Amino acid sequence: MRKVFSLIFGVILLIILIPIIFTKKKALESLNFIDNSASINKYNYSDFSKIKLLHQSTGEVEEVDLDYYIACVVSSEMPVNFELEALKAQAVVARTYTIYKLMGNRKHENADICDQSTCCQAWISEENRKAKWKEEERNNNWNKILIAVNSTIGKIICYDGKPINAFFHSNSGGKTEEPTYVWGGSYPYLQTVETFGEENYSQYSSEVFLTKEELIEKIKAEHEDFEINFDEEEPIKILKRNDSNRVVEMKFGNLNLSGVEVRKLLGLKSANFTLEFVNGDKLKFKVIGYGHGVGLSQTGSDYLAKQGLNYENIIKHFYKGVEIIDM
Ligand SMILES: [Zn+2]
Repeated sequence: MRKVFSLIFGVILLIILIPIIFTKKKALESLNFIDNSASINKYNYSDFSKIKLLHQSTGEVEEVDLDYYIACVVSSEMPVNFELEALKAQAVVARTYTIYKLMGNRKHENADICDQSTCCQAWISEENRKAKWKEEERNNNWNKILIAVNSTIGKIICYDGKPINAFFHSNSGGKTEEPTYVWGGSYPYLQTVETFGEENYSQYSSEVFLTKEELIEKIKAEHEDFEINFDEEEPIKILKRNDSNRVVEMKFGNLNLSGVEVRKLLGLKSANFTLEFVNGDKLKFKVIGYGHGVGLSQTGSDYLAKQGLNYENIIKHFYKGVEIIDM
């Protein structure tokens, strides 16, 4: 009788355990970036422990520890009051961007990277960063930055086993941009993606007013042959927008300019804008978003973190088909 009970008990146990074992295996398989990380972990993090940082204002090159450098970049590039998971995403992006540069993509002869956001990545010293915060918040703020960097040490973003060119920007205005419209060239992981919640941030919209004279002066600075007759019908006209709603081509008098060039010439925060004449002689530009729009949106990351996404899922939203690996 006892044997019969043991047999029945054994069969019941098997019926319960088999689905659990299979479900667990399936769950692990779905987290494939964890499994794959071991097979593509071919970079030695200690090879990148020091970097040569160029200070553009003095021309001085300073050797700094990689992760201390990353902390200074994160504190310079993203507001410290953003969510911790957004700061972690920024830390991984900044580390990836740096290692991509170190692996044969340097812009400078005697340095690995410089401290300017318009060229490489913004960097500020710990001392200068802290001086910009209220005294009573300095230690907590700096600790938050260190947590973001130290809890992601050695983590970088890879596509096809190689570090990606991890572009980022402030606010995409609802959709990120393809690099082909900004610098030319394309990367499979940098596609237009929708961004949510960015309209809640001050970086989302801005306005620029220019008189006709100011407009002529700014365009003539780069195009001496510029001519415009404001009495003609539509002297200024947007000719083409892309899928992310940014201006691709527009007419200014006798010139056809790209939206990216107009942004630069007129000092607009992005290439997603509309324009109208106000009071007869002034041009009003309404601008949506802030930055080139390629890759990770910082405000979009903060919003996703507020919705409960962790830094890995935030990164995977903005860069398509990537893996986050442990070096
Ligand atoms: Zn640079």
